[in-house]
Amino acid sequence: MNFFIYSAIFNAFIAGLLGLVIILKNRKELINRLFFALSASVTFWSISYWQWMSSNNEAQALFWVRLLSIGSLFIPIFFFHWILTFIGQNQKHKVFIRILYAIGIIILLFSFSNLFIKDVSPKYIFPFWPNPGILYNIYLAFIYFGLTIYTIALLIKEYRNKGGVEKQSIKYIFFASAIGFSGGATNFFLWYNIPIFPYGNILVSLYPIALSIAIFRYQLFDIKVVTTELLTFLVWILLFIRTLIANTLQERIINGGLLLLMVITGVFLIRSVMREVSQREKLQILTETLSDTNLKLSTRTKYLAALQDFTTSIIESLDFKNTIQSIVNGVSNRFGYLGALLILVSKDGEKIYPAAISQSAASSVALRILPKPLEEYFEFIGQTSSLTAEAIKRGEIQFSGDFSEIFSSVPKDILSRIQKTTGIRLTIAIPIKSKGKILGALEVITAKTKTDISQEELDVLKTLANQIGIVLDNASLFEETKKLSSYKTELLSIVAHQLKNPLVVVKGYSSLVEDNTIQGVDAMKEVFKKVKSAADKLITLLNNLLDLHHIEDGKMHYEFQKLELNKLLKDISDNFQLILSQRKLQFAFEPFAKDANVNGDIYKLSQVFQNLIDNAIKYTESGWIKVKIIDDKKSYLVEISDSGRGISQDLITKLFQKFSRGVEEKQILGTGLGLYISKEIVEAHRGKVWAESEGDGKGSKFIVKIPKLEE
Ligand code: ADP
Repeated sequence: MNFFIYSAIFNAFIAGLLGLVIILKNRKELINRLFFALSASVTFWSISYWQWMSSNNEAQALFWVRLLSIGSLFIPIFFFHWILTFIGQNQKHKVFIRILYAIGIIILLFSFSNLFIKDVSPKYIFPFWPNPGILYNIYLAFIYFGLTIYTIALLIKEYRNKGGVEKQSIKYIFFASAIGFSGGATNFFLWYNIPIFPYGNILVSLYPIALSIAIFRYQLFDIKVVTTELLTFLVWILLFIRTLIANTLQERIINGGLLLLMVITGVFLIRSVMREVSQREKLQILTETLSDTNLKLSTRTKYLAALQDFTTSIIESLDFKNTIQSIVNGVSNRFGYLGALLILVSKDGEKIYPAAISQSAASSVALRILPKPLEEYFEFIGQTSSLTAEAIKRGEIQFSGDFSEIFSSVPKDILSRIQKTTGIRLTIAIPIKSKGKILGALEVITAKTKTDISQEELDVLKTLANQIGIVLDNASLFEETKKLSSYKTELLSIVAHQLKNPLVVVKGYSSLVEDNTIQGVDAMKEVFKKVKSAADKLITLLNNLLDLHHIEDGKMHYEFQKLELNKLLKDISDNFQLILSQRKLQFAFEPFAKDANVNGDIYKLSQVFQNLIDNAIKYTESGWIKVKIIDDKKSYLVEISDSGRGISQDLITKLFQKFSRGVEEKQILGTGLGLYISKEIVEAHRGKVWAESEGDGKGSKFIVKIPKLEE
C-alpha cells in the first residue's frame, strides 16, 4: 500500500514543481499555460490519489476517488491541447478543442454522481476500489484511450515531417507521453475487476522526468534556468518545512537563517544563470543567422553555377527555336522542376502564346492529355486573367496551387487532369522583362509547395527570367540580322540582274547609233523608243527601291484628297492601250454606275493600280484583262482580273511579302517589291488588298478594297 501512496506523493511533487516553474517562466504564452494546466491536473490527480489510498472509510475514499478522476479526466484533454500548440496545429483543430472542453465540463458536472463513479468496494488488497458508471466508460474509451492515441499519432506524423532538433524534442515528448500514459493506464484494470495492480503509477512520474530531459537537452522551455529554479525552490521548501517542524527555537533560528541565506543566494544564482542563458541565446541566434546565411549562400552558389552553366549553353546556340527549347529544358532539368514553359507576347502585343515546353516526363504526359497541339492555345491578353496573363500584365511573379488557372484557353477540367496525373503542386509565372518591356513569362511547374520555395530560389528564378530576357533579345536581334543579311543579298541581286538588263539594252542601242549601224530617222526613232522604254523600266525599279526605303524608315509621305475611282482607273487604263494592243490582249474596264469617291493620294493609288494592271499584262501570255469597280457597303472593291498563268497556293500566301516572286519569273523584269509596296499603300488608305486564283494556269484576280469617302 505504501508504494502507491509514495508514488502518488512523488508524482504530485514532481509534476507540481515542474508546472509551477514553467508557468512562472512565462505566464502569457499559451504553451506554458497549457503545460501548467496539464501538470496541475497530474498533481491534482496524484494528491487525490494519495488521499484516497490513505482513506479509512468508504465515504472518504469515494470523495477522493471522485476528485482524482476529475484530474484524470482533464489530463488527456490538456495534453492534447498542449501538443497541438507545440506542433502549431491549434487553428486546424479549433472546433475539436472546444467540443472536447465542453465534453470535459459536462462529465465534470456529473463527476459526483453515480453515472461517473458508482461506488467503492474492496478489491484484492485495496479496501475501497471504485466501480465505474456509464460516463466513466465513455471517458475511458474516448478520452483516455481515443484522444491519447490520436495525440500520439499526430506526434508521430510531426516527427516524420520534421528534422533536426525539433525531431529530437518530439521523440522525447513521444516517449515521455507513451510511458506516462501507459503507466497511468495500469489503474484501469481493477476498475473492471481484472487483477492487475496499478504498479505503473510510478511511471507517471517518468513523464515529467522525460520531459525535463527533453527540455534540458533540446531547450523546450529553456532548461538551465528551469532546473536552477527547480532545485532552488526545492531547497527553499525543504528548509521552510524544516523551520516549521523544528523542535527547538535554536533549531528553528538556524533553519530560518539558512532559509534566508538560501533565498538570497538562490535569487543571485537564478539571476546569474538567466544572464548566462540570455547571452548564450544571443550567441545562438548569431550562430543560427550565420549558418542560415551560409546555407543561403551555398544554395545561391549552387543555383548560380547551374544558371551560368546553362546560359552559356543557350547563348552558344543562336537559332531562336533551339534557344528557347534549351531554356525550358535547362530550367526544368537543372533546377529539378516537373516542367517549364515559355510563353511569349506576340509582336503586336495583343496575344500570348506558348512558345516552348520542356522535354520532361511531366510535359509529355501533359501534351498527351491536351486535345490540340500546344501552339494553338494562344489567348488575347486583354480578354483573360489567367495566371500567365496576370504575370505579364502586372509584371510581377504570380503563384497558384491550382494548375487550371495557368491558361484560360485550355479547358479547366483538362488542366486539372494534367495536375492530378503529374502531381503538380505549384505553378509559378515569372515575367520576362528586357529593356523595360515584358516579352513573356517563364512558367515553372513543380511538385513543391509554396512554402518549400525559398527566397533564394525565387531570386534565382527572377535572375534567370532577366537572363532569358537578354537571351531572347539577342536571339531576335540575330534573327533580325539574318533577315537583314538576306535582304542585302536580295538587293544586290536586283541591282546585279534587274537593273543590269535595261542598261545593257541602253548600251547596246547606243553603240549601234555610235557605230552608224542605225541609219535613217525612222530607224533612229525606233531605237530611241526602245532606249526610253528601258529607261522607264529602270526608273520603275529605282522608284520601287526608293519606296521600299521610305516604307522601312516609316517616311512614306501621303497627300490625301478627294478622288474619283472611275476617272482614275480610266486614265490609267488608257495609258496601257498601246502595250495591250501590242501584246494582243483584250481589255475591258467596267466603271461604277455612279461617282465612286474615296479619300486618297492620287500618285500612290495610281501606282497601286498601275502595278496591278502591269502585273496582269506581264503574267498573261494571251487572253483578257478586266478592271471592274464594285460597291461593297462602306467600301469600293476594285477588281483586276486576268486569264493569265494564275498563282500557285504556295505563292499566294507570301505574295505580298518583300522580294516575293514566282519561281519562273527570272525572265520577266521585276523586283518582287511591287505587291509589297501596293499593300503598304492600300493599308495606309485604311484598305485591304488580296489575291485570288484557282491555281497555275487558271488566271488571277487582285482585289483592292478602299473605304468610301464619307460625305
Ligand atoms: P514583280 O512583278 O516585280 O516580280 P510583284 O510584287 O509585283 O513583283 O509580284 C510578285 C509576284 O507575284 C510576281 O513575281 C508573280 O510571281 C506574282 N504575280 C503578281 N501578279 C500576278 C498575276 N496577275 N498573275 C500571276 N502572278 C502574278
